[in-house]
Amino acid sequence: MYTQRMQRSFPRADRFAVLARRPCGLVHSLCAALALLPLCACPSVPRKPVEEPPPIAEPLTPSWVKEPMSWHKLELIEQWLEVDAGRHSRELVIEAKLQLNEGRLQFSRRDIDSSAAPRETLQMRVESARKGFEEILADSSVSAGARNRAQLGLKGAAGLAQAPTGTGLAILGRKQWNARAPRVSNLTPLKGGWSRITVHHSAESTSDPRGGSVEDSAATVRIIQKYHMDDPTHRWGDIGYHFLIDGAGRIFEGRELQWQGAHAGGSNNHQNIGICMLGDFERRGPTDAARKSLQVLLDDLRARYRIPAERVVPHNSFGSTRCPGPALTAWLKSYK
Ligand SMILES: [Zn+2]
Repeated sequence: MYTQRMQRSFPRADRFAVLARRPCGLVHSLCAALALLPLCACPSVPRKPVEEPPPIAEPLTPSWVKEPMSWHKLELIEQWLEVDAGRHSRELVIEAKLQLNEGRLQFSRRDIDSSAAPRETLQMRVESARKGFEEILADSSVSAGARNRAQLGLKGAAGLAQAPTGTGLAILGRKQWNARAPRVSNLTPLKGGWSRITVHHSAESTSDPRGGSVEDSAATVRIIQKYHMDDPTHRWGDIGYHFLIDGAGRIFEGRELQWQGAHAGGSNNHQNIGICMLGDFERRGPTDAARKSLQVLLDDLRARYRIPAERVVPHNSFGSTRCPGPALTAWLKSYK
C-alpha cells in the first residue's frame, strides 16, 4: 500500500530524481545526466537506461464482477465481502453490496410472482436487502449514484414487504415463541456460507406426538433453549438448532441463520444448519404433517443455499448417537 502510494505520488519525470537518490545508483545516474550535456566529462561510463519501476500488483478482478445475476453470483459476492473485500477499493465494495441486495430483491420479486418460496423465507430475504441498503445509506462517503441506487432499493424492499405472497410455509419467528435474547458473545458468526444440513430429534417425551397446541410447542422450544443456554454442560449463546418442527408441522425459528449452530459437535457444526424434530422417534416416526414440513423446509434451504441432497444427513452420520431414531434416518436416506 505504502509503496503504491509512493509511486503514484511521483510523476514519471521525477523518477529520475528518485533513482539518483539511491546510494548505488548515484554515480551512474549523475553521469547519465551529465551525458546529456554537450561537454560530458565522463565519456567512458556507458549510459544506462533509467530502470522502470516494477509493475504494481493490482488485486485480481473478483470473479463475481463478470458473472450474470444468479444465486451463484450472490454467493460469490457474500464470500468475497467476507474474505477478500479488504484488499479492494471502497467503490468496488459498495458496488458488491448494491448488487447483492439488488439481487436479493430481484429474486424475491420473481419468487413472489411464482409462489416459489415460503412467505417467511421471502420476508427474511427482503429484510436483509432492506438492512443492506440502509447500511449503504448510513455511510456518508458513498457516491451520489450509489446512494440513489440504495434509495431505489429501499423503496423496492418496502413495496415487496407488503406484497401478497404465495401459500408457502409459515415459520414462527422467535418473538412468536417468546425466545430469550441470545448471548451474542457466546455465538460464532457463520463463515463461508451454509453447505450442509443435519436433522435431529429432541428425544424428549413431553411433546404431544400429534403436535398439540402452538403454546405447548412454544413452551417445549423454550425449555430446549433454556437447557442449551443455562445447563452447565452447555452454556451456549442460544438454542443450538436453527429450526424446530413440531408434530403438527409447525416450524419454529431457532438460532438465527447469521450464527453457526451448536448441534452436531465441534467442527461438525461448521456451515451446518441444524433442524430438530420435536419428539422422541426412537420407537416411532414423526407425523405426516411434521415430515411434510421437514421436506418443504429442506427443499427451501437447499434451493436458497445450493445444498446438494447428499449433504442432508441424520445426526447419527457423525457417529456416537442414535439421533434422530431409525424411522427418520430411513426417511432421510429416501429423501436423497
Ligand atoms: Zn441430534
